[in-house]
Amino acid sequence: MLIDIGVNLSSHRFEDDRSAVLQNALDAGVEKLILTGTSLFESKVTIDICNFFSDDFPNMLHATVGIHPHNAEQFNITTSEKLSDLAGDEAVVAIGETGLDFYRNLATPKAQQVSFEGHIELAKNTGLPLFLHERDAAKRQIEILRDYRDHFSKAVIHCFTGDRATLHNYLDMDLYIGITGWICDSRRGSDLQALVADIPLNRLMIETDAPYLLPQNMIFKPKNKRNEPSFLPWVAKQIATQRHESVCEIINITSKNAKVFFGI
Ligand SMILES: [Zn+2]
Repeated sequence: MLIDIGVNLSSHRFEDDRSAVLQNALDAGVEKLILTGTSLFESKVTIDICNFFSDDFPNMLHATVGIHPHNAEQFNITTSEKLSDLAGDEAVVAIGETGLDFYRNLATPKAQQVSFEGHIELAKNTGLPLFLHERDAAKRQIEILRDYRDHFSKAVIHCFTGDRATLHNYLDMDLYIGITGWICDSRRGSDLQALVADIPLNRLMIETDAPYLLPQNMIFKPKNKRNEPSFLPWVAKQIATQRHESVCEIINITSKNAKVFFGI
């Protein structure tokens, strides 16, 4: 069994064929998906998707609720209370995605930090793990996580693309690391390829971040370039190659980690 810990299934790019995408995932052995909430609205839609498909695809879909750093200016007392309500739904297994993204700075750094700290508070109050995003903001992200480390139990840095020092800072705080198809890109993924063996097996999880980040090691790529959860084995394959381990081992251990992490 494989578990995809990051899927943006609420994306409009899936609106015509969600059911087929889920069946493709099952056919590829991807039996559980964690759907990512990226705004108050998307978090609600994501929970609705989980509930809508719960008869046809039992125990397959789970959700995170949160506001992506790009949308951080949405975060305030009202949205925080609404997220807290949504977190009570039984489909919800984590708070996020949240964190800092100084690469695009679509929200001001200040707004991102306020939202990030608010999400940590939500994790504290709900007891749920944190699903974290970080791009070009490692220094500040690490400072905030250190300050609040005793406020949350578990956290995963999803779609990790940082450098070695950053990775070890996260690991020193006992965080989990999510690896996407970024690692399958021989050009921009080369740093990550060299680093992935540093991650202890018991801290490693895998994800597609679909519909984004189509794995570049796929032999037959879809014409529409859309990534989907059924392509997750390609991420496992690339990690196995870099670590000189078997694909089976990567699949088994990452699934086991995801089950424990999300309590699914
Ligand atoms: Zn992200």
